[in-house]
Amino acid sequence: MLRVTEIFRSIQGESTHAGRPCTFVRLTGCPMRCVWCDSEYTFTGGEHYSIDSIMDQVAAFGCRLVEVTGGEPLAQKQAFELIRRLCDDEYEVLIETGGYVSTAALDPRASVILDIKCPASGEEPRNDWSNLERLRADKDEVKFVIAAEGDWIYARKLIKKEALESRTKAILISPAWGQVDLQQLAGWIAGSGLNIRMQLQLHKYIWGPDVKGV
Ligand code: SF4
Repeated sequence: MLRVTEIFRSIQGESTHAGRPCTFVRLTGCPMRCVWCDSEYTFTGGEHYSIDSIMDQVAAFGCRLVEVTGGEPLAQKQAFELIRRLCDDEYEVLIETGGYVSTAALDPRASVILDIKCPASGEEPRNDWSNLERLRADKDEVKFVIAAEGDWIYARKLIKKEALESRTKAILISPAWGQVDLQQLAGWIAGSGLNIRMQLQLHKYIWGPDVKGV
């Protein structure tokens, strides 16, 4: 059984898959507490579903792209089995993870979108750095949420130090909603000389920042 906050179909709002139809399985619970978290409603509650029930609900939406997210989806051990089942059924599977839980046991057919927590999140010390060693250049993406200039400086340094441009499919620079001037962030990115991309959370511009299940 897994504790699930919501299962819904929408368009993918982030990553290199932004704009594509996608079914989201949002699991309940997260051991982190990022100060700008936009998913606090996932921390508690949710309903218990068997993996078979989740598979049926995903199938009913008819999308071949499925994202398992949270909360922190990998915080529930059974999530690894759900991901394996989705891969077995030949879904294209994305895992959005906050970077605290090890990805070592993850089915290699799934693609990882790995958050690297920056200092202004308040959770930077909890990054599991071993996750960087498992990044695959043809599949996996890393995401930095930027809430202040110090976060941008931190991200830029880490991208160079860890040679992330050659170790990932994409490096996503995402503003924390309402916390950073978008034109300023765009200027930093444009002038960085790095192969990175600015990403906006498409769903928040379409439906508004507080609407759930979209
Ligand atoms: S890891 Fe994600 S869900 Fe957890 S507190 Fe941070 S932003 Fe929120």
